Order: sequence, then C-alpha cells, then structure tokens
Amino acid sequence: MNELKYKHSESLLSRAKKVLAGGVSSEFRKYNHPHAIFYSHGNGSHIYDVDGNEYLDFTLSQGPLIVGHSHPDVLDAVATYSKKGQLFAGQHIQEIELAEKLQELIPAAESMRFCLDGSEAVQTAFRVARAKTGRSKFLRFEGHYHGWLDNVAYGISTTDLAALGSRTTPAVFPWSAGQSPNSRDEFIILPWNDLDLLQHTLELQHQDLAAIITEPIMCNNSCIIPNDGFLQGLRDLCDKYGIALIFDEVITGFRMGLGGAQKYYGITPDIAVFAKAMGSGYPISAVVGKREWMAEIEEGRVIHAGTMNASNPTIAASLATIKVLQDDKDTYKRMFDLGLMLKEGLVGAAKRTGQNLLVQGPGPMLHTGFTDLDKVSDYRDTFTYDRVKLNKFISGLHDENIRVIGRGLWYISAVHTEQEVAHALKVAEQILCDL
Ligand code: PMP
Repeated sequence: MNELKYKHSESLLSRAKKVLAGGVSSEFRKYNHPHAIFYSHGNGSHIYDVDGNEYLDFTLSQGPLIVGHSHPDVLDAVATYSKKGQLFAGQHIQEIELAEKLQELIPAAESMRFCLDGSEAVQTAFRVARAKTGRSKFLRFEGHYHGWLDNVAYGISTTDLAALGSRTTPAVFPWSAGQSPNSRDEFIILPWNDLDLLQHTLELQHQDLAAIITEPIMCNNSCIIPNDGFLQGLRDLCDKYGIALIFDEVITGFRMGLGGAQKYYGITPDIAVFAKAMGSGYPISAVVGKREWMAEIEEGRVIHAGTMNASNPTIAASLATIKVLQDDKDTYKRMFDLGLMLKEGLVGAAKRTGQNLLVQGPGPMLHTGFTDLDKVSDYRDTFTYDRVKLNKFISGLHDENIRVIGRGLWYISAVHTEQEVAHALKVAEQILCDL
C-alpha cells in the first residue's frame, strides 16, 4: 500500500474523532480500508475521496445508489421539490403519486406508510403484526439483518460457530452492549432455508407468533438464494397458523426488479419493508402490506408517526429513481447480465489462480468469500470463510481503486458498464494471483 494514498483522509479522521464518536456517523463506516475514508463527491459508478483517489464503486453506498451517484434526474427532482418547501407536516400530491406507483408495482402494496429508514419500517411491520394477531413474538432467521434496533440486533455477530449451539434451539448474542435484556424475549430464532425445522417449531410454538420475518434472499450473509419451495413453504405455514409473513426487502426491493423479490419469486407476503434503493440515498422507506393487515394503521389501532416522514425531497427522489429504472426497459436485464459477467469472471479468475473463492448471488448483488465449500447454504456455513484472506482481497481491490463492501458484497447499478466490469475482473485476477 502506498502510505500517502489515504493521507488526507487519515488526518481528517483524527480531527473527526475529536467531535464524532469514533470519527463516524454509522458503525459500519469505521471498517473501510485502511480506516474510515472521507469522500468529496460521486458521479455515476464512481466515487472520489479527499485524497483525489477515484474508485469504481460496487458498494453503491451500501445499496441505495441503484441509478448511480448524483443521477441528474434525481438531483433535479430533489431541487425542484425542495424549492416548493421541505416538509409540510401535512399531505402533498407527490406522496399519493409515489404510493400509487408502489401499489402498481409491488404485489403486497395494497396500502402503505412512508418512513425514514429500514430499521424503523421493520418495527412498524412488527407492530402491525402484533396488533392484528394479538400475539407477541416474531420468528427470525440466523444471519439475516433487520436493522440495528434492540429486538433485531441478534443472530448476526459471533465469530465462533460452537457458540451458536444446536440448530434446533440456537443460542443468540446481543450485537451491542446496552440492548434491553427484555428484547431477547421478543423472538424465536432458527437457521434459514430449513422448512422441516420451521414446520416442527411452528407446530409447538405458533400460538406465540405474530410474524415471521425474512429477507427473501439472505443478502446480508453470503447472498444465499432461497431453496426451491422455501418461500412458498413460509407462505403456506403463515396461512395455516394465521401468522404475518413479513418480507424484509430493504436490499432486494427495486434490485430484483421493480416489484422486489416478491414479484420475482411470485410469493406475496402480508407485509413488506422497502428502503435503500427506493430513495437513491435520500432517507425514505416504506412499510407496505395487504389491506387486511394495514387496516391496523388505517383504522388507528396501530400508531405510526414521524415528523420527517414523506418530506418533499425524499418523495421526489424516490419518484425520480423509479422513473429512471422504469423508463429504460433494459435496465434490469443489464444489471442481471453484468452481475452474471462479474460472477463468471470471478469464478474463472479464481480457477486460474488456484484460489478457493466462492461467488454467490443473483447478479444485481453478489457475495465473494474464500471457502472450500461448493455452496454456502446457511449462516452456519459462513463460519468456514477465511476472513483474513477476504480482507486482503477487498483491501487489495481498494488500493487499486475498486470499492467493494468489506464483508464481500458487490452491488451492480443501472449505470455500471461492461468495460467497468471487465476492468474490475482484470484487477481482481491480479490480486487473487498475489494473495
Ligand atoms: N433490513 C435489511 C435487509 C438491511 O440490509 C438493512 C440495512 N443494511 C436494514 C433492514 C436496516 O435498514 P437501515 O439501515 O435503513 O435502517
């Protein structure tokens, strides 16, 4: 590594640490290479840091920037609607237009509310499910991420497989100090993609369960695709026991298609949560659901509120993002094709260099990790990953100006090109060779 490459960022980080806790505003930003980096601007598929380094960006700012950095249509829409006023503490027409658009695109979106981020929308979904069913717990899966708030900040953070305990009654650990100890009583946790185990658990415990929440693709750990019939199995079991099926589409939403993973797989949940790519980096999310569930909010039994909800600029950003995605009929085909090109290219490079690199995912998002397994099928398999090697790979890419999320996740945007993917592959092969 060139010692001078990140010099200005390094000095800004020292300054930031005096005023921002840990120098950052979100925990994950600490873990850049070689430390938190300060950026000056972004454009399309590229982002620039304060040292003048230009990166080909596959992080898309943790997913939101599906039409790239600073898309002119998004920025124009935000500027235009901001000039009319930022926030009314009242209704505006664009809000209806966005809701009508989501209703047209997303199967479960018969009714909805807008919020600010994914974490908040998830909690709204739980509240609706508890209110309608009169039950208190939710069931969730190991390795799935549903935000940073107390009752979901479990099941994602141990480095020791043995500590997870048995598959049938997994042990869980709080992610953070200071989580309410009572939050542990709010959920049951199970390994994902195991319908028999789920069925057995529900036979015994369904009477406690208001909801089952799942990422339809396990994007937050290894980009694991659901087994054939798994999502349908979830749907059937939820119907059988009167449990709300919640899809957390914070990552899959607008990424697997305009209708999210629910449209892609043809399985409609009762409630679903969208954020990230929905707003191109502006703080907007949605909790959507079938009317019989959303009636809890419609009829005022469930309270959902928020001073900042559905502000003019965020609604404008979302409408503009969806328009960009929808106007070009080839957008999704291109994102899937480029993802496939990246996946096949990385697999080929790994073969030629003798590296045990495993690449998983549907294309618009992919996960890379080093393991001797042919397939990583659930969270427990992720403990086979060589994290030191991954770190070297991701850091190596970063030093060569290719930015990938530290845990090995790559996002493709609507503005990445074949030439850019080809360039990334060439660089990646060299790094694999040098590992
Ligand atoms: N659910 C999923 C699937 C996510 O990936 C995330 C964020 N990575 C969240 C929920 C939380 O969203 P936010 O960070 O917007 O609160």
